[in-house]
Amino acid sequence: MDRKVTEMIRNNQRWARKRIKHNPNYFKEMAHGQTPDTLWIGCSDSRVPAETLTGNHPGQLFVHRNVANMVIHTDLNCMSVVQYAVESLKVKDIIICGHSNCGGIKAAASKKATGLISNWLMHIQDLYTRNQTLLNSLTEEHMLEVLTRLNVAEQIWNLGRSSIIQDAWARGQELTITGLVYNIEDGHLLEEGVEATSPENLETNYRNYLARLLTLTDQDLDAEIIERHRQDMAANEEDESNEEFPLSYYY
Ligand SMILES: [Zn+2]
Repeated sequence: MDRKVTEMIRNNQRWARKRIKHNPNYFKEMAHGQTPDTLWIGCSDSRVPAETLTGNHPGQLFVHRNVANMVIHTDLNCMSVVQYAVESLKVKDIIICGHSNCGGIKAAASKKATGLISNWLMHIQDLYTRNQTLLNSLTEEHMLEVLTRLNVAEQIWNLGRSSIIQDAWARGQELTITGLVYNIEDGHLLEEGVEATSPENLETNYRNYLARLLTLTDQDLDAEIIERHRQDMAANEEDESNEEFPLSYYY
């Protein structure tokens, strides 16, 4: 039986051939350099591949992924990625994307993580402890959903307060940080309604978002899902008259 890596190399060769067939200069152009306009900070989870689920090609997203999509000021890896993205690539957007069914969120909430990763997940456990009155009033499914959303807001707050972002805003660089949550159950990216474009609205938007999130009940969360499904069905009907997703994307 072929090893997985053999299959991956074969797929890669097919993919490279198809790219060249589509555009003979594809790789020559790519070798000139990268000009992505967006930095994506997401979870390492294999079900949340940034480019695939947003329809982006190589060269269009600068990506950093770690367990539970966190931005921790002492994490030199993440902060180096942010610095390069902001100061050299001059990205205009930074997306922080959480997702449903996140193993990191579950492990933190259940306090079952052990070993090295328990230290990493302690940041989410602290978030859980700070908000446990609300979280404990919800069903487990909703508790995990709200903790995921709280975590996205927390990471926006962390990132926005970093010296890299504060300096960029101070020199007038255009930069928006946006929070998203990817719903693994239906493949949708949901806008969290928390974003920041300046030090001032970072604080206001973060506090307003938390205030809204921390009043949610099980009924509110169920109603959100029903409304999402309604919008989804409406969008599906509309989509039938629209053009197909470009096939070239898949190759
Ligand atoms: Zn995850």
